[in-house]
Amino acid sequence: MEPRKDARAAASRQEFDICVIGGGATGAGCALDGQLRGLSSILLDAGDFASAASSASTKLVHGGVRYLEQAVKRLNLEEYRMVKNALRERQYMLANAPHLAHPSHFLVPVYSWSRAFYYLIGMKMYDAIAGKSNLFPSSFLSREETLRRMPGLNGKGLRGAVAYSDGQFDDARYDLALVETFSECGGTALNYARVTGFARDSQGKISAASVRDGISTDEFVVKARKFVNATGTGADKMRLLANPQLQSRMRPSKGVHLLFPADSFPGRDALLVPHTEDGRVIFAVPWQERLLVGTTDDEVTTATRMVVEKNEAEYLLRQLNPYLAAPLRRDQVVSGLAGLRPLVAAAGQTETSKLIRDHEVEVDGPSGLISILGGKWTTHRLMAQDTIDALEREMGRQPGPSLTRQQPLAGAKDFDTGFAGKLAKEYALPADVARHLAGKFGGRARKIADLSRENPAWKARVSPGAPAIEAELVYSSRFEMAETIEDLLARRTGVEMYGWGEALAAAPVAGEVLAREKGWDRDRQRNAVAEYTGKIRGLLNELELGEG
Ligand SMILES: Cc1cc2nc3c(=O)[nH]c(=O)nc-3n(C[C@H](O)[C@H](O)[C@H](O)COP(=O)(O)OP(=O)(O)OC[C@H]3O[C@@H](n4cnc5c(N)ncnc54)[C@H](O)[C@@H]3O)c2cc1C
Repeated sequence: MEPRKDARAAASRQEFDICVIGGGATGAGCALDGQLRGLSSILLDAGDFASAASSASTKLVHGGVRYLEQAVKRLNLEEYRMVKNALRERQYMLANAPHLAHPSHFLVPVYSWSRAFYYLIGMKMYDAIAGKSNLFPSSFLSREETLRRMPGLNGKGLRGAVAYSDGQFDDARYDLALVETFSECGGTALNYARVTGFARDSQGKISAASVRDGISTDEFVVKARKFVNATGTGADKMRLLANPQLQSRMRPSKGVHLLFPADSFPGRDALLVPHTEDGRVIFAVPWQERLLVGTTDDEVTTATRMVVEKNEAEYLLRQLNPYLAAPLRRDQVVSGLAGLRPLVAAAGQTETSKLIRDHEVEVDGPSGLISILGGKWTTHRLMAQDTIDALEREMGRQPGPSLTRQQPLAGAKDFDTGFAGKLAKEYALPADVARHLAGKFGGRARKIADLSRENPAWKARVSPGAPAIEAELVYSSRFEMAETIEDLLARRTGVEMYGWGEALAAAPVAGEVLAREKGWDRDRQRNAVAEYTGKIRGLLNELELGEG
């Protein structure tokens, strides 16, 4: 079985009902929804699945407490509805992939009684809007309880904290699980497949897409009855390719995150910093044995670069440090992320941080292209449902029911809270490795552990400090369409998030696995390692960090 070769062959052989362009959260969600409704679907991504915004999020499955505050302050019903929808979607996201998403407690530290009252009222509203799907009731925690749960908090003047609940998830692996589930339902998913143009039928409707295979560099054609544009910040480009008369709609905004060792701010709860100097919120959340701090929100200009810049890191530290007993320093950063939010322009709104994170389905009459614009990770399922409903209407039929609300995703089967312990025992794996495998692959972790039985050398860690093992690289190269070192270390195993130093150490191992699995020659392997390590060194240099 060679999933990418099979998908590539099917892509030019078959004629599909739906061709979804873009394999982030939105596109993967659309492809799965369509396929489950019985519409034969193909999913194409120009790069790797989840290589854009969908792996650069704050990893929150949330309604958005800040959006609720904005909705109340501006008496904005649309924004209120978006929070309500997202809170409903939160429960489906958590239930469909319990290995990748879980509820968490968030604490908002308060230094005055009036603020305590204000946040508690707000969080009680948040609970009420969630209704039956609320995860835990929000509450006020005393100063002592707050410091017990979050010992790294600045205790000077602290009155306590307001605790509320939301979800956290592994965004890159969640996207991959959507793609895998889609493939298992009979769909065709192909990464490194860039749509470069459209062909039309006699009525001017799009009937085929020209696609460039980024691996073989071949050009090929994909035929389908309907085309969905789910290209995130690339949506305008695709819309204009379909119909040059359309107006641009996207207003991307850049957001960055920093990762620190988990013990730099101990505790299991997430911290919400309720007010930044630009009137936003930021989070410091324990995430996979690291502390994830973010995010920024800056409008994209011609000078925007997709790296974490020094001034952005300093901004985050400046917002967070007043809340900490021991301030974090830039030289403690182990990794970082930069991404672009695919926001949709609203008339008259100039600041991207004030744009509503709602989505919009646009059907372009002349070309028939269906674009799904905006939204957020948490609402990807609903966005997909709305898109496929619109698509079915365009096909001249009554939309069938969406089947994704209760659709367990790849890895959910056989997973339970004791799974990592069982895995460690059955396969004699260190506890951190078993936890990591269970958290990334769910029940599928057994397949990886089985590979390590096939070749015990594959039980070795990919770098001394990281919990990922070589068998994972082999598994993802064989069965998950990982084609590059970055595919393996960033999105499949998460080593790059764990630490840029770890990623540098793991790159030669990943290069060797890919060379063996894909039949690369020495030069290709050497170039791939040099290119990847060059990228990581560039990221370290931006923040003036050493390689240690
Ligand atoms: C900093 C930040 C923090 C965030 N935090 C959260 C959060 O905590 N919770 C939450 O719910 N949401 C969050 N979001 C929002 C969320 O991440 C995005 O809304 C979501 O990931 C968008 O998914 P998407 O599939 O629409 O876009 P993307 O993930 O950007 O995917 C678009 C895909 O289209 C592909 N593509 C583009 N052009 C072509 C082409 N010509 N041919 C084929 N493919 C193409 C790209 O390669 C890309 O993979 C955050 C976003 C950012 C940036």
